[in-house]
Amino acid sequence: MTATQVQVRAPGKINLALHVGPPRPDGYHPLATLFQAVSLYEDVLARPSDEITLELRGRGTDLPTDAGNLAVRAAALLRETGGVDRGVHLTITKQVPVAGGMAGGSADAAATLLACDQLWGTGLSREELAELAAELGADVPFALTGMSAMGVGRGDLVTPVMSRGTYHWVLAVQGEGLSTPHVFKTFDELEGYTVPSAAAPGSDHAAPDGAGPRVDPGLLAALLSADPLVLAKHLTNDLQDAALDLRPELGDVLAAADRAGALAAVVSGSGPTVAALALDAPHAASVADVMRAAEVAAEVLTVTGPVPGARVLEHVHGR
Ligand code: ATP
Repeated sequence: MTATQVQVRAPGKINLALHVGPPRPDGYHPLATLFQAVSLYEDVLARPSDEITLELRGRGTDLPTDAGNLAVRAAALLRETGGVDRGVHLTITKQVPVAGGMAGGSADAAATLLACDQLWGTGLSREELAELAAELGADVPFALTGMSAMGVGRGDLVTPVMSRGTYHWVLAVQGEGLSTPHVFKTFDELEGYTVPSAAAPGSDHAAPDGAGPRVDPGLLAALLSADPLVLAKHLTNDLQDAALDLRPELGDVLAAADRAGALAAVVSGSGPTVAALALDAPHAASVADVMRAAEVAAEVLTVTGPVPGARVLEHVHGR
């Protein structure tokens, strides 16, 4: 018996903290981040096909549907790894803003890996899927894990962390995204960093082995407190100044969140989405109303976190 269709849901993320070190010789920046998966989802429906094809609904209908799309790359990687000789038709319904610093493309890739694994019966373990996920992109492993987790390395070495309670967030989504490489380039310029050459490992910017940025233990304790007032003190993002440099109007979004009574607000990842923390659901609704009225964002949404990582919603069997 084979599956005739598999529906998988994966969440977008926000970064409660993002610490960025100087670039390594390979150009990557060592990161230490605290991810939280939030209730804005990518739904991937996988159906049998001869080729790997993709159809997009919701947001992102102007994204590539060929190998330029991370979901197509995910299916191709699994097909090659699993020695599969079939294809898949993917239908992705996107809720996560494109290039919004919420890793929507990574969620698509994670959901596609899980959906195709079920559809094709490749039967990989979560660990094997996580290895493929890391090959596809730094944020893909977290989209499999979900909930709250620490990410180090490029953000791809993910360790789940304990978190109590549910946090209520207001997301200010911009109409136009920001390119992640562009934000890192601006970060380097603002910090005065240059990429050290591989021939000069002892250069000023090369971190000694094992000495990368770290997540503040106070943030881990805050997540255990279930108290948004405590968590609010720990929201931080080293990329925020770079995002503000590229999009000065994000300063208006942060100010509007403050005026609306948010406990704290931070640019998520490489931006431009701003995540504002509220006390509870009614407070989030009122912060969202005030932020909408301020007209500083294309959309203002309320979400909660943490939520689970990629999971199968429906698995239909046929003969
Ligand atoms: P990053 O994961 O690089 O931090 P992000 O979270 O800001 O990015 P995404 O929407 O995940 O934003 O992806 C950014 C870029 O990746 C898009 O502008 C697009 O060019 C490319 N991309 C490829 N596949 C996808 C996909 N399935 N969904 C969204 N973007 C994709």
